[in-house]
Amino acid sequence: MPGPPAPKFKIKGRATRLCQRATRERYNRGVSRKHKTEMGYCAYCGEWRELTRDHVPPCSLFGRPRPSILITVPSCYFCNHGASMEDEYFNFVLKLGIDQNRFPNENADSVDKIMSLARPESLGFARYLLQKYQRNSSRIEVDRDRVGIVLRRIVRGLFYRDIGMRLPEFVPFQFVSIEDQPRKAAALSGVTDSLARGQQEIGRGVFRYAFAQCALPDPFVTAWLLSFYDHRRFFCFTSNPL
Ligand SMILES: [Zn+2]
Repeated sequence: MPGPPAPKFKIKGRATRLCQRATRERYNRGVSRKHKTEMGYCAYCGEWRELTRDHVPPCSLFGRPRPSILITVPSCYFCNHGASMEDEYFNFVLKLGIDQNRFPNENADSVDKIMSLARPESLGFARYLLQKYQRNSSRIEVDRDRVGIVLRRIVRGLFYRDIGMRLPEFVPFQFVSIEDQPRKAAALSGVTDSLARGQQEIGRGVFRYAFAQCALPDPFVTAWLLSFYDHRRFFCFTSNPL
């Protein structure tokens, strides 16, 4: 199974490999086999394997108690756990600065995560974040590679759920961060405004999304608007290279 694109940063590449090895070892020890349910086709890799249910988006984005209705898709063990480092990063950066009145549980998660950076085992990650801190805007520069891996998984999961077929890995994926790329966002405002009017909501504003298939009968040309905590929005699109 092809893995996610090679990371740019050495620390991330090593961390990802270690995470993948730990996942494989856990699986081989059978620790997580209690999650196995049935055999079937994985929504991500398309292989016939034992299936788990993968949350789309990652359930860690929702505070506890979690909403009773969350989106899941069938996923093999390896695809389900293969990007957990990226999920953790995504969870961290998206929750920074969320409205604590509207999202008290998620804000409490965020504070816990910030406090956890003081642990000795988190110092590498804390140092990495400090390098990305932008004094002028008091923001952390988001690692587009890492965020892109998670967004792509979310879109592939939603594609499977809403369109009823697997989005192949060869289909190109791109995204625009509406808050971080204002010029590109302005050029796309007509599409994003149109999508925003039809967004589905999961978890009282934690996650909203809408999509459009742009060039039927080619099912792989799609546009997506993903919104998290109503303060981070991403316009994503997939297209057929042919
Ligand atoms: Zn899989």
